[in-house]
Amino acid sequence: MVLQVLREAHGRHLTADDVCRAVQDSYPSFNRSTTYRVLELLGAIGLVQQTRLGDGVAHFEVVDNPDRHHHLVCVQCGRVQNVPADVLSEISLRLAERHSFHIGTVDLMIQGECAGCRGGASGRGLTAESAGG
Ligand SMILES: [Zn+2]
Ligand SMILES: [Zn+2]
Repeated sequence: MVLQVLREAHGRHLTADDVCRAVQDSYPSFNRSTTYRVLELLGAIGLVQQTRLGDGVAHFEVVDNPDRHHHLVCVQCGRVQNVPADVLSEISLRLAERHSFHIGTVDLMIQGECAGCRGGASGRGLTAESAGG
């Protein structure tokens, strides 16, 4: 049922705690250490991948997700956006051409600033500091 919880998350990223809580809805006796063990097992057999999103917390998602994606992580607010894997298809072609390298799996996390944090929303922080002159 851990796998089912992850499948139903649809592109969201769940921590072990999230998974544990969701499973406990149906199976109250399910505990945290069981969750970790199951996640570890699913990871070992390649059904679940662990993704680090820069906040030091492991997030889990199913590997056979039909829409593979990569992660854009905002360093300001920590927001995670999913990027369709096809943004990499061009890079993939180039690697194949230049290096005869075929990409298997990619675990990509791109850090930066999201639209909200890059401003536009407010002009704060731009106050003139006319201390001397
Ligand atoms: Zn993801
Ligand atoms: Zn942000």
